Amino acid sequence: MQSQLKVYNTLTRQKERFVPLNAPFVGMYVCGPTVYGPAHLGHARSAISFDIIFRYLKHLGYQVRYVRNITDVGHLERDGDTGADKVQKQARLEALEPMEVVQRYTNSYHRDMALLNVQAPSIEPSASGHIPEQIAMIQQIVKAGLAYESCGSVYFDVAAYNKTHHYGKLSGRIIEDMLTGTRSLSGQQEKRSPLDFSLWKKATPEHLMRWPSPWGEGFPGWHIECSAIAKKYLGPKFDIHGGGIDLLFPHHECELAQGQVACHTEPAKYWLHNNLITIDGQKMGKSLGNAITLAHLFQGTHPLLNQAYSPMVLRFFILQAQYRGMLNFSNEAFHAARSGYLKLMNGLKALEELTYPEDGEEDINQDLVVEIKKHCDSCHEAMNDDFNTAQVIAALFGLLKTINALRSRQVFPHLLGRTAFDQLKDTYVSFVKDVLGLYQKSNIPTTALLDILLKLYNQAKSRKQYDQVDAIRAQLKALGISLQDTPTDVQWSYVE
Ligand code: ZN
Repeated sequence: MQSQLKVYNTLTRQKERFVPLNAPFVGMYVCGPTVYGPAHLGHARSAISFDIIFRYLKHLGYQVRYVRNITDVGHLERDGDTGADKVQKQARLEALEPMEVVQRYTNSYHRDMALLNVQAPSIEPSASGHIPEQIAMIQQIVKAGLAYESCGSVYFDVAAYNKTHHYGKLSGRIIEDMLTGTRSLSGQQEKRSPLDFSLWKKATPEHLMRWPSPWGEGFPGWHIECSAIAKKYLGPKFDIHGGGIDLLFPHHECELAQGQVACHTEPAKYWLHNNLITIDGQKMGKSLGNAITLAHLFQGTHPLLNQAYSPMVLRFFILQAQYRGMLNFSNEAFHAARSGYLKLMNGLKALEELTYPEDGEEDINQDLVVEIKKHCDSCHEAMNDDFNTAQVIAALFGLLKTINALRSRQVFPHLLGRTAFDQLKDTYVSFVKDVLGLYQKSNIPTTALLDILLKLYNQAKSRKQYDQVDAIRAQLKALGISLQDTPTDVQWSYVE
């Protein structure tokens, strides 16, 4: 199986033809959320970026095992490596057990992802569910002489690793620059070098999430969970490792080093990173007051929002940029996204209502056929060019011109011929729904429609138009709704 797909590999800093290690199987690992608070716009961008990649690989016929972890332990405040555990800190604030915090925000993350039409990964393992695997991998690194125990914690020895390998290979950082840029932080006297990162941390007496280990009671460092989990479900080397660009250093650099030592191979062939979302040109952060959560967005409850936006508008907004491109939030950009999204959806509705006439004579307009083929080819070429959803959307808008002309009867299907008509319909529907994952959630209020119908029923009754009265009654009954006339009005109830 061969595809034309090219992906930008952060590791080699170039676009490469995608050749899986073991086609048609593809193993993909993506760093999932640390579940200590509600998901925000950044979470949505990362999840949607890799959802698109997951969908398109399946569209190409690959069998994808997509593993996305849940970080529920060991993610500390500063670079994930020092300071308080994020989950435990939130548990103290909310007066909950740490695992209650984990469950609460895992549930809300899943609800948000479902609203965004992000498909669930094949496996979603948690860090706390894989402690023995992490301990085993740390022991391998210690045995290889590239980690050392210090005061009940275990650290990766970056300088020793760098003698035979290149620490900084993935992120492009230079070890000497990193050393001059580091401050000495409290607790770092335990380490031989400020660049060394923790594989295992000794638990202080007040630390809640703790497990026994060969080095005493403690908890795993943040980076080791992804290495251990990926190895367990995808093997020592797999195809794609993904995540947000903010995870490139130190998290992914550390993962690469850990995998190299424990499994004698770089863990992934292709490293893919999605870019972040900025808010009115600024980086998003709690301290800046611009961290817009998904709940804020869907309900319109953040001061920076003019109004609420639906999950599908957010999805469209994110897909308007290629996943490595910059994406800036503003109300204007969201208004434009909503308008674009609705145009695409109206095109979908129009196409689903259109059929090619069975006995129609073809009177083919070659210019139209060429135009349709060009835009359909563009959809595939754009996705094959490192999942360029921005270009896909542009091509779909190209097709939309013909769809709108068909809808308004300026153009008739027989001018396209059956082949081009089918190509238009198949491409548009499959790219909008399956590849981009966009759909129109019906938000038409059913009870308001029923009220309109009951008014028409009452009018017909008062005009003694009994044919119409009976017709409305019978059709509603077929839908499971029965009408009861009272002396003053009409009431309804559910029937079988
Ligand atoms: Zn990770």
